Amino acid sequence: MQCPVCHIDQVIVEFHGVELDVCIDGCGTWFDDDELRQLFEAAGAPALVADLEQRLQELPPGRDGPTRRCPRCAGRMQHVQTPGASGQVIFDRCRRGHGLWFDRGELEEILSLEVSTDGEGARALATVRAFLGQFAGDGSPRDG
Ligand SMILES: [Zn+2]
Ligand SMILES: [Zn+2]
Repeated sequence: MQCPVCHIDQVIVEFHGVELDVCIDGCGTWFDDDELRQLFEAAGAPALVADLEQRLQELPPGRDGPTRRCPRCAGRMQHVQTPGASGQVIFDRCRRGHGLWFDRGELEEILSLEVSTDGEGARALATVRAFLGQFAGDGSPRDG
């Protein structure tokens, strides 16, 4: 599968049996349908995102994105806006429900709002952040 941003092939990374598609260039991470829930279940905090993925799937679409396409079906993805820890986050969503694309840092912004500062949720978030951070590259976020 190609990265929707830079179009190089994504790599598959495994987190306790959950396979995620990550851009090795640091653009972001693709979550197939249900993978967000699986990831946090594997991280030990299934309740943390019990209904987050559902909510993200049901948010109304915003303006059409530039030319980002779903890595599964190549259809144009929708821009969807949701609150993040330091402002609104706009992520990309396949119109056909194949999954969600988060630019680097976007998922953390969203999750930071969901998680209290201590407890199992915070530990799971720290684990996931460290895991995804390995693939974040070292450049600044890209667009287009
Ligand atoms: Zn990329
Ligand atoms: Zn699709």
